[in-house]
Amino acid sequence: MPAALEWQIAKVTRITPETPQTKTLTLALPAWVAHEPGQHYDVRLTAPDGYRTERSYSVASEPERAGEIDLTVERIADGEVSPYLDDVLMPGDQLEVRGPIGGYFVWDVAIGGPLLLIGGGSGVVPLMAMLRHRAAQHSLIPTRLLYSSRTADEIIYRAELDRLASADAALKVIFTLTRGAPPGWTGYQRRIDAAMVREVMQSLGNDIRAYVCGPTLLVEAVSAALVAVGLPPDRVHTERFGPTGT
Ligand SMILES: Cc1cc2nc3c(=O)[nH]c(=O)nc-3n(C[C@H](O)[C@H](O)[C@H](O)COP(=O)(O)OP(=O)(O)OC[C@H]3O[C@@H](n4cnc5c(N)ncnc54)[C@H](O)[C@@H]3O)c2cc1C
Repeated sequence: MPAALEWQIAKVTRITPETPQTKTLTLALPAWVAHEPGQHYDVRLTAPDGYRTERSYSVASEPERAGEIDLTVERIADGEVSPYLDDVLMPGDQLEVRGPIGGYFVWDVAIGGPLLLIGGGSGVVPLMAMLRHRAAQHSLIPTRLLYSSRTADEIIYRAELDRLASADAALKVIFTLTRGAPPGWTGYQRRIDAAMVREVMQSLGNDIRAYVCGPTLLVEAVSAALVAVGLPPDRVHTERFGPTGT
């Protein structure tokens, strides 16, 4: 069996709160292999009575960080797995994982750009792996991240995104908030639509590669908008995280 499909026991080495609903778990992997940015791991929980359940989580970290991965998990209030990962798991605990998995929603600097990343909620996680890899490679590929969150508090990785963008003229990060904005907010304040996508893409030139990730309805609306503004469908890569449209 390929290593990626074998379960291994990871050790939780660090837990970092990102937002009130989201934490990053740093896992040390005994059988670490470099992932492609955009790939995910499966996490498997086993109850004392033997009941097992699995969920997928994208790798947030860059493959240049050997031996460990970051997973960023948004707590879904009535969820089976995410509240355990965010609220119960502690540094030093073990977690069964397998990966890296996925060969379609992946990007690295060799694929090139210009690069258009569009994410909603925790859909930013695999896009962050792409941005961190791009930064680790000192790539100047023209890149835009358009990132939709419900509120400013829910923006994951905000400080790092601001830092990356301020250090790199080829990278622009554009936020939109869908449920109200704080005073002085200068980003967008609506759901992503074709007009927004057109504005964000404007300075990127031709031959764009687009990666869209988030709740199912967001991914469907954004990919339709991208095709409507003229992107060939085979340039639009999508990953759906969950069933909701909020
Ligand atoms: C390839 C892939 C990568 C993923 N990467 C990440 C990641 O990096 N970070 C992350 O937080 N999640 C990620 N997800 C989603 C994750 O796999 C789980 O679906 C999510 O954590 C919910 O699991 P749960 O057991 O807590 O909820 P469940 O018990 O499965 O569901 C509880 C309720 O929440 C709804 N629900 C399920 N998933 C979501 C969701 N994502 N958003 C809103 N409502 C939902 C269900 O319909 C149900 O009503 C990814 C999913 C896929 C397919």
